[in-house]
Amino acid sequence: MNQPIKEPSFRESVDQMFNRAVSLMDLSPGLEEKIRVCNATYTVRFGVRLRGKIHTFTGYRSVHSEHMEPVKGGIRYSMGVNQDEVEALAALMTYKCALVEAPFGGSKGGLCIDPREYDEHELEQITRRFAYELIKRDLINPSQNVPAPDMGTGEREMAWIADQYKRIHTTDINGNACVTGKPLNAGGISGRVEATGRGVQFALRAFFRDSEGVKKAGLTGDLDGKRVIVQGLGNVGYHAAKFLSEEDGCKVIGIIEHDGALYNPAGLEVEKIRAWIGKHGGISGYSDSHHVDKGASVLEEPCDILIPAAMEGVINLNNADRIKANLIIEAANGPVTAGADQVLREKGVVIIPDMYANAGGVTVSYFEWVKNLSHIRFGRMQRRQEESRHQLLINELERLSKDKELGWTLSPGFKDKYLRGADELELVRSGLDDTMRIAYQSMADVWHGRDDVDDLRTAAYLVAIGKVAASYRAKGL
Ligand code: GLU
Repeated sequence: MNQPIKEPSFRESVDQMFNRAVSLMDLSPGLEEKIRVCNATYTVRFGVRLRGKIHTFTGYRSVHSEHMEPVKGGIRYSMGVNQDEVEALAALMTYKCALVEAPFGGSKGGLCIDPREYDEHELEQITRRFAYELIKRDLINPSQNVPAPDMGTGEREMAWIADQYKRIHTTDINGNACVTGKPLNAGGISGRVEATGRGVQFALRAFFRDSEGVKKAGLTGDLDGKRVIVQGLGNVGYHAAKFLSEEDGCKVIGIIEHDGALYNPAGLEVEKIRAWIGKHGGISGYSDSHHVDKGASVLEEPCDILIPAAMEGVINLNNADRIKANLIIEAANGPVTAGADQVLREKGVVIIPDMYANAGGVTVSYFEWVKNLSHIRFGRMQRRQEESRHQLLINELERLSKDKELGWTLSPGFKDKYLRGADELELVRSGLDDTMRIAYQSMADVWHGRDDVDDLRTAAYLVAIGKVAASYRAKGL
C-alpha cells in the first residue's frame, strides 16, 4: 500500500495561501507579518466532576486579528481540536469577516471533546465551565469577543453560554450580544441555523450569474440539472443540499458521511437521508444498493459541483489528482489543502474558497449581534407601515379600474404577495443575499481583471487582506 503523502499543517496551509496572495500585493513586510500572525491563543485546562470523578478538558480561544472589535468566530467541539487548528480557523475568520464586510476581527475556539460521549446534562456542565473560564478573561464579551456555533456545537450550547455570561455580568444590558447562534427564544435571530447552507446556495447563484467564471469552470447554463456531491450532511451540508435540490433544480447524486457514502446517479432524497441519520446516527442501513463502504472514494466520482461540508483537509495530495468535479465550493473551513489547491488549479478545477463560501454563518451572526444590541426584532417598526402603503396602491389601482372602466384585474396571488410586509426571516435572507452578491463581485473583479490572478482563492485573499491592511493603516500602523 502506498504511504499517504505528508502535508503541511492546517495553519501552515493557510499561511501558504496567504503568502501566495501577499506576494502580489504591495504591503510593507512589517504590515504583512502583522496581518499574518495570530495575536494570542489562550489554552485552558479545567476539571468537571462527572460520574463520580473529575474529568479534565482542554480548550482554546485564539484571537487572530483585532483590527476590528469585537473579534468573532465559532467554538467547536471535536477530538481533533488543537492549537494549530484553532489558529488556522481564527485566521480564516479574519479574512472571512473582511471579505463580507462584517465589522469584526477574527477569532476561534475549540474544546477537545467527543460530544457524543456525554449526556445533555454533562455537556451543559462542561460548556458552562468552559464559558466561565473564557468569560472571566473577557474572551467572551459583547464588545470584545463573540463566539458562535461551529462543528459539534449549536443553538443549545450558545444558549448555555449566553446564560452563563448573564449570571456573571448581571447588569450588562447587552449581555445577549456576547454570543450568536442562540435559539430564537433566547435572543437568537430567524434564519441563523440555515444561514451557512443558505449562504452556500447564494454563493453558487452568484457564481452562475458570472458567465466568465462559469466558462472557466468548463460548465454551461445555470444551477438547474447540475450534479452535486456533498461531503457531510450536518447542518451546513444538509441545508445547502436541501436548498439546491428543492429550489434550484440541482440533483444530489452523492452524500458522504462518517460511516460510508450513498451514491446514485439518478439522484438521492436529501430529506429522507437526513431523517435516517437523525435516527440511526449514520447512513448505514439506509440503502444497500446505493451504499459505498469507502465513503471518501465518492469524492472522486464525476459531478459538476463538489461540496465538502465537513472538516479540513479532506481533499489533499492523496486524492486531488483523482477529483473529477468541475467546481468545488468549500462549505467547510479548509477542506482543500494548499498542496491539493495547486494540483486542482493546474487541472482547471474552479474552487469557490471557504472564506467566501461559508461566510453566510458569520453574516447572519452579525445581524443577530446587531439585533441584540438594538433590542428589537428586524422589521418590527416597518412591516405594517409597508403593508398599508402597498394597500393604498392596490386600492387606487382597483378604484381606477372601476371608475374609468379599464377592466384591469390583478393576476392571481399578486395581491397577497405584494401586500405582505417582510418579516425577520425575509429580511435576514435578503441581507445575506446582498452580502454574498457584493462579496462575489469584489472577488470576481480581481479574478477576471488581473492577469496575475488565476483563481478565486487568491482573489478572495487579495480583497480581504486589502481591507484588513486599510484598517490597520487607518489606525496609523
Ligand atoms: N463557525 C462559523 C464559521 O466558521 C460561524 C462563525 C460566527 O458566526 O461567528 O464561520
